[in-house]
Amino acid sequence: MYNNDTICVQGGYTPGNGEPRQIPIVQSTTFKYATSEDMGKLFDLEASGYFYTRLQNPTNDTVAAKICELEGGTAAMLTSSGQAANFFAMFNLCSCGDHIVSSSSIYGGTFNLISVTMARMGIESTFVEPDCTAEELEAAFRPNTKCVFGETVANPALTVLDIEKFAAAAHRHGVPLIVDNTFPTPVNCRPIEWGADIVTHSTTKYMDGHGSCVGGAIVDGGKFDWMAHADKFPGLCTPDESYHGITYAEKFGQGGAFITKCTAQLMRDLGSIQAPQHAFLLNLGLESLHLRMARHCANAQALAEFLHDHPKVVSVRYCGLPDDPYHELAQKYMPNGSCGVVSFELDGGREAASRFMASLRLAAIETHVADARSCCLNPATSTHRQMTDEQLAAAGIPAGLVRLSCGIESAEDIIADVSQALDAI
Ligand SMILES: *Cc1c(COP(=O)(O)O)cnc(C)c1O
Repeated sequence: MYNNDTICVQGGYTPGNGEPRQIPIVQSTTFKYATSEDMGKLFDLEASGYFYTRLQNPTNDTVAAKICELEGGTAAMLTSSGQAANFFAMFNLCSCGDHIVSSSSIYGGTFNLISVTMARMGIESTFVEPDCTAEELEAAFRPNTKCVFGETVANPALTVLDIEKFAAAAHRHGVPLIVDNTFPTPVNCRPIEWGADIVTHSTTKYMDGHGSCVGGAIVDGGKFDWMAHADKFPGLCTPDESYHGITYAEKFGQGGAFITKCTAQLMRDLGSIQAPQHAFLLNLGLESLHLRMARHCANAQALAEFLHDHPKVVSVRYCGLPDDPYHELAQKYMPNGSCGVVSFELDGGREAASRFMASLRLAAIETHVADARSCCLNPATSTHRQMTDEQLAAAGIPAGLVRLSCGIESAEDIIADVSQALDAI
């Protein structure tokens, strides 16, 4: 088994003699067979192979295999976006009448997905603070709970999930823990090693890393024993009538059932595939992920330290700072660094934040994070602009809060840019 640095570069693909060194883009919707019997075996999941790109494509499989190796999983798949990855991961386990326990500190899109869209599908949810006590977490479970969800480092709150605490509670109730590992990436944290069962990603962020393609991924750690909780997971443990009566957990085992069902059922019916061209570009990003993450983290650490002592900054949130409330958890789960995103509150609210951002020359104003180029956002004047200052304060998002995603430029230049913009307030 190689180190992650090597897997980033070479994982998932070993060309044979005379084959292309770089992964081929299989730009084809369909695949040809000599007899209909041959193809029939694929439809029956009796043989593995390709017949239609909505279900599987060799380029996508190669890149999914690399992400699977990076996370230390047993099976993986790509999706068209991070939203699709999180929806598929949860919907592969839950149906109408079921319930999800989720950390309240998660990406806004995922919060909407769970609390609004999945609620309309009859799937209920209970949100708990990531810092909740074991008793509070325990109280969130119901007999119909089917999974627990959280983010290793939450976007945008930058809270750190106590993965072991959430995994232990999930497992006590016979359900898996799903962890969205978008911000640290497997370079900085491998949640499966800490007890997570399923890992998801918005590959749009650091994995792609160049702001080029929206995408997602799901990885199964292969450790959850579905058959031991067969009553909770009929979709995995009883015959799928829409798939020739296959019982996924029996036929594909603990390591393969989750991703096979997710592909054969959810991709077949909902069709959120990643384009093979995008998978190719994602793989180019992955080849330098280990190098970029180190620089993103070093730049963010330097910026956070600079902001920490600046008179115009009320507070800084970055778990690499020793006085950050999540420093201890971050040291445990991400000893080599977390991510490149730093958030800080400026003295002077919306106006100060607007002035600051308009004065930046290097960091661009964008609704994006985790890009090679530095970018920033003031929630009060953009994503949360319909809220009053009072509503923002209640949501824990002060009007003067700025989220700055450090790119991989020179730390000196990023700090100089931030410094002159602070002087302009
Ligand atoms: C961006 C993001 C998502 C959504 O991903 P898309 O690729 O934009 O659909 C989900 N989770 C986290 C933590 C994110 O940062």
